[in-house]
Amino acid sequence: MSKGVLIVTGGSRGIGRATVLLAAARGYDVVFSYVSDEAAARSLVAAVEAAGGKAVAVKSDIGSEADTLALFAEADRHGTLVGLVNNAGVVDLPARMDEISVERLERMLRINVIGSIVAAREALKRMSTRHGGKGGAIVNLSSAAATLGSPGQYVHYAAAKGAIDVFTLGLGREVAAEGVRVNAIRPGLIDTDIHASGGIPDRVAQLRESIPMKREGTAEECANAILWLISDESSYTTASVVTVSGGR
Ligand code: NAP
Repeated sequence: MSKGVLIVTGGSRGIGRATVLLAAARGYDVVFSYVSDEAAARSLVAAVEAAGGKAVAVKSDIGSEADTLALFAEADRHGTLVGLVNNAGVVDLPARMDEISVERLERMLRINVIGSIVAAREALKRMSTRHGGKGGAIVNLSSAAATLGSPGQYVHYAAAKGAIDVFTLGLGREVAAEGVRVNAIRPGLIDTDIHASGGIPDRVAQLRESIPMKREGTAEECANAILWLISDESSYTTASVVTVSGGR
């Protein structure tokens, strides 16, 4: 029997993809978004269906409120929303803050902060008992950058993820009595394409030795923590951030 509908933003690749696969295997009907790589989205739907699960791909830019409303409207067609994984996120090419443009700052904050907040707002309208919902769980994607600051590379990204930490704390407490738990995971260095999109394809190899466990993490290790926070197994955990970083 279906556990209900789970939305995963940016679900087509990386940590989102692993989360979609695990959630579908555990019985959630997954509605996930992507923004450009339609082939990756299609192949993920096929992989989920081949394993007997259900997944729906929606092209939806998390930086656009209209797209996010359309993503939730599509999810509504598939059943009751029980969870949201605010996974979609971007890095940027390395830059010092004395050379950053407002355009780059706005893109970073619109996608990584405002996008997650707007999606959480839509989830609350459906899940909070204050709005007649039956409860649910939200998991945000923070980053070890929020505690390290990423000097010389991505201070603006780190600041955006710091905002996600505070948002998780505040919203978790705001809706704790309304049946909705809000948590985050804080990945360290995870082996995905995000490092190449940030202009440093060998970033993981460069920094591997600095990780106490001496290895990068996998998208699946992040998905395991995300699904624990979505599930009732974490029923007394809210307003918390779980670090998944090999000790970094
Ligand atoms: P990734 O491999 O680059 O995948 C990003 C996913 O997000 C793709 O499915 C992409 O869709 C989608 N996406 C990008 N921009 C989007 C937008 N504007 N609207 C909707 N979807 C969008 O990234 P990842 O490494 O899995 O990272 C996932 C999350 O974990 C991010 O929030 C990231 O900041 C965080 N994180 C990652 C690491 C790490 O080491 N990998 C560490 C700490 C935190 P397309 O396929 O269509 O491009």
